[in-house]
Amino acid sequence: VSNLVKHFQSGSRLGGGRTVVRAVDGVDLTIGRGEILGLVGESGSGKSTVGSCIARLTQPSSGTIRLLGRDISTLSRREMRPLRSEVHVVFQDPYSSLNPRMTVGQIVTEPLRQHRRGTRAERNRIVSDMLERTGLSLELVGRFPHELSGGQRQRVALARALVLGPSLVIADEPVSALDVSVQASILNVILDLQIDLGFSCLFITHDLSVVEFISDRIAVMYLGKIVETATRAELFRDPQHPYTQALLSAAPTADPSSARGRERIILSGDLPSPTEEISGCPFHARCPVAIDRCTNEVPLLLGVTGPDHQSACHLVTAENGAPLINQGDKNLV
Ligand code: SF4
Ligand code: MG
Repeated sequence: VSNLVKHFQSGSRLGGGRTVVRAVDGVDLTIGRGEILGLVGESGSGKSTVGSCIARLTQPSSGTIRLLGRDISTLSRREMRPLRSEVHVVFQDPYSSLNPRMTVGQIVTEPLRQHRRGTRAERNRIVSDMLERTGLSLELVGRFPHELSGGQRQRVALARALVLGPSLVIADEPVSALDVSVQASILNVILDLQIDLGFSCLFITHDLSVVEFISDRIAVMYLGKIVETATRAELFRDPQHPYTQALLSAAPTADPSSARGRERIILSGDLPSPTEEISGCPFHARCPVAIDRCTNEVPLLLGVTGPDHQSACHLVTAENGAPLINQGDKNLV
């Protein structure tokens, strides 16, 4: 994904001007083959819009989305159809995303029918296999969504998402509506399935413990922008962006080497509205270490301790705008 932008028009026409919601404001992301990228941020930071643009459920305002090397950002519905089997979304609330009038078997079979895959017998075999992989008893095949628990419904949604063997699964807060005890079992199912089937995953969540559990790599989003990205271990051990540091400091942990639970950084103010036009760093109004430059110059997402760890903050760049700390050369600091 490069320089992805999605601005919505909103507000009343009565009061004159309509406002622009800058939901996604220039996002760059790469999700490797077989990688789980956790996209974490507060609600309203634009995470879901990123996922929805990648799945082409939302038309981006601008930017490029490449899937398996092909630019899909400008494909028409018809051109996108053959690629539909490559990207699937699992939503937060399986209850509203599953057709209440279809049985479990019908729900999981439907994508195969739509894409004309296999004979009826082959489809049945694939569906049984997928139900088993997601931990659903075959006895549930004739049941309707309302007869299932929340966890079972999310397993059905997963089975449906995976039945065509997609390259990319976009999981948008898939466990946030579930009890904590059920969350862990669903996360384990996702991890097991990912290892067995090898799909890539964009895992969207506001929950740090979930993102820490599931991700290979993590991107932190704030007000429509990625402010930091790193491997999971690196992000939790050595967060660079002041926003990430504040986020992690607020989360308790039993691990003393983790940045979580260190002295708590309290942010002033609330997340600004995405309708506000903010100059400079999107975080400057709340940043405890902001400098003059932050109010008028947008920080770029640059390598911090290496190309795998990037942060968008002026404090890690030199006066001339070149990265001060870069490519693992910490001696420059
Ligand atoms: Fe804070 Fe400035 Fe860094 Fe933004 S660029 S996070 S305001 S120090
Ligand atoms: Mg959301």
